[in-house]
Amino acid sequence: MKPTSSRAARRLAKKQGKSAPLTIGDLADRVAKARVKSIPDGAQTRAKRILQAYLQSAQNYGMPIQDVVREIASGQAAWRLGHAVRDEMLKTPPDAVRKAACKQGCAFCCILSGGEGGVITEFEATQLHTALIPFKGDPDGREWHPEACAALDPETRGCRAYEARPMICRSFLSLDAAACEANAAGGTEQGAGLLGSHLDYLAIHALCRQALKGISQVHTYSMAAVTSGAIDGLDALTNTRQKPSALEIACKDGSHAAGG
Ligand code: SF4
Ligand code: SF4
Repeated sequence: MKPTSSRAARRLAKKQGKSAPLTIGDLADRVAKARVKSIPDGAQTRAKRILQAYLQSAQNYGMPIQDVVREIASGQAAWRLGHAVRDEMLKTPPDAVRKAACKQGCAFCCILSGGEGGVITEFEATQLHTALIPFKGDPDGREWHPEACAALDPETRGCRAYEARPMICRSFLSLDAAACEANAAGGTEQGAGLLGSHLDYLAIHALCRQALKGISQVHTYSMAAVTSGAIDGLDALTNTRQKPSALEIACKDGSHAAGG
């Protein structure tokens, strides 16, 4: 008997005591059933739609399932999709972008007062670590401010890993640099925050984790630990992995900031 769908194939294999190989269709089913409690329904539906479109296109192009799983688990898929959402948003820049006070050398947002400095994916952590290897042992941002990101140049206050900076750095902006300075010192001034597209990015990655349960682990990493580890000469991603709750907390904070 020939099964007519991936689900039918799995049912038949189960009956025969075999386990059918995972397919992109199975992943699409898992995405459809995935649920991230900390993301509001609207954002979750949008993220699922984007992820399903990615899977459909992977299927159309005949991408091997191992490559799809690897892209989803590492965060490379979320990176690509998050960028597409961000680029689309920036075609008609909102006020927050048009009126942003951000400029080269203004780096109060690179003071990582929260300790971990944000949630980044394995894909981002690897890119960041690699970009910083040439600066191993050099003076870094911590010479300017003890809690600054180590990727920062302490003199120019420019990012030395600009092309490899994670999505959180690409999404943060402010209408008021003075508010950023005050917040870096523990204040709670208004005017600074993340682009709305960042919630889509987090939601996509959180859904990927749900969809890959029992297939592959999806970790997140501390940006502060990755950048300081690279400058201090540690092996890639040593002691930089976060607890699973870090992504949930980031999703909850992102939803709250977006008014969800
Ligand atoms: S987010 Fe704030 S600190 Fe960062 S560049 Fe913009 S104005 Fe400066
Ligand atoms: S990676 Fe670059 S942009 Fe991001 S916090 Fe560090 S220095 Fe700033």
